[in-house]
Amino acid sequence: MKKRRPLSCGGGGKGPPDGHARQKNYDKAAFSGVAVLTGTAAFLGEHRIRVTYGDGSSEELTADRFFLNTGSRPFLPPIAGLKESAFAYTSEALMARRVLPRRLAIIGGGYIGLEFSSHFANFGSQVTVIQDWEQFIPREDAEVARSVLESLTARGVQMRMGAAIQSVRDEGDCAVLTLRTTAGAEELEADAILVAAGRRPNGKELNLPAAGVELTDRGAVKVDEHLRTSAPHIWAMGDVAGGLQFTCISPDDFRIIKPQLLGDGRRTTQNRGEAPYTVFLDPPLSRVGLSEQEALERRYEVKVARLPAGAIPKAHVLRRPTGLLKAVVDARTGLILGAHFFCAESQGMINLIKLCMDAKLPYATLRDGIFNHPTMSEALNDLFGALK
Ligand SMILES: Cc1cc2nc3c(=O)[nH]c(=O)nc-3n(C[C@H](O)[C@H](O)[C@H](O)COP(=O)(O)OP(=O)(O)OC[C@H]3O[C@@H](n4cnc5c(N)ncnc54)[C@H](O)[C@@H]3O)c2cc1C
Repeated sequence: MKKRRPLSCGGGGKGPPDGHARQKNYDKAAFSGVAVLTGTAAFLGEHRIRVTYGDGSSEELTADRFFLNTGSRPFLPPIAGLKESAFAYTSEALMARRVLPRRLAIIGGGYIGLEFSSHFANFGSQVTVIQDWEQFIPREDAEVARSVLESLTARGVQMRMGAAIQSVRDEGDCAVLTLRTTAGAEELEADAILVAAGRRPNGKELNLPAAGVELTDRGAVKVDEHLRTSAPHIWAMGDVAGGLQFTCISPDDFRIIKPQLLGDGRRTTQNRGEAPYTVFLDPPLSRVGLSEQEALERRYEVKVARLPAGAIPKAHVLRRPTGLLKAVVDARTGLILGAHFFCAESQGMINLIKLCMDAKLPYATLRDGIFNHPTMSEALNDLFGALK
């Protein structure tokens, strides 16, 4: 009988740099015994997969256990003419484009769409974001979302909320989008269209039913809090497991799975602590925990701290005094429930809040701590100092 080994499908661009098919055992030293096969995997049975290589050849492999880590891909909304348009780009393709589009239309006002709107507005493109929701980033704190919207519009980004795109057609050297809004139909010309209408997990292509693995309605692999799938020998991690689509989640999922094989298996998606994230706007928007609205919905009695970024000395040193910091505290215990920082260097500051939340340190720890000067994080003294 063939010897079986654990197999991982996917795994974030760890293939050979030249993308060579069948260059299987490359760089053994770096991977210490791990063979990396650069091909596309799909299940043939519970313990069997087929790997198909770029040159059309394929091979079958068997394993006792499988770890799915195949990520996600952009969702292409069913808009007439979009797929055929020579001016439509995914985020990856737009980054590879060498010429700056004078007019950029972005389909989708989610995190990726907004990041690109911010970058391309800074580069000098005329950016229009088309979003079918009426509300701007509805999952974020309403006050902080307003501050983000002000910053984008001040840089010339046009936000078309509540607008549906009916069709796209190429005309000469540009694309024409037909929008439907409450005011009726209108046309918008663009030199490039970024399709940023969300990402879908790469689950379906793996032929998972052959292995007894169930998918959710959105095509993610169904997992429990230990990231176990419906098949006892298969786990899923990262974007394909249907949770938050952030880089820090994928390696943390590994921290949940590894102890099930080699440790006490106690870490789960429920007890791993807070997951902060950042939307890399200019300045970045970083968040951890609950918004004020969410805390109120959960019946917390809250205290709310606010600080304009313009009140932070370091923000002036950086010449980036735009934005707003907001934190929500449980009035009964003094524990931090959440924080939303739209300011320069917020991507690092938010990790301090996460640490306090996980360690159950009261907000006074940040209010009264001695922080290095001049830094953005010293503003936490002032932010929490505003609370009575
Ligand atoms: C434009 C953009 C900006 C982003 N910015 C941020 C950010 O600032 N911060 C952040 O935290 N996150 C960001 N993200 C999200 C982040 O990139 C993902 O959450 C993260 O890469 C997911 O990691 P993963 O390990 O699940 O999958 P991936 O890193 O996507 O790796 C999956 C791998 O599996 C391979 N694969 C897929 N199907 C198969 C198959 N059938 N057989 C074999 N291999 C397969 C894929 O080719 C890929 O190499 C961004 C995403 C995008 C698109």
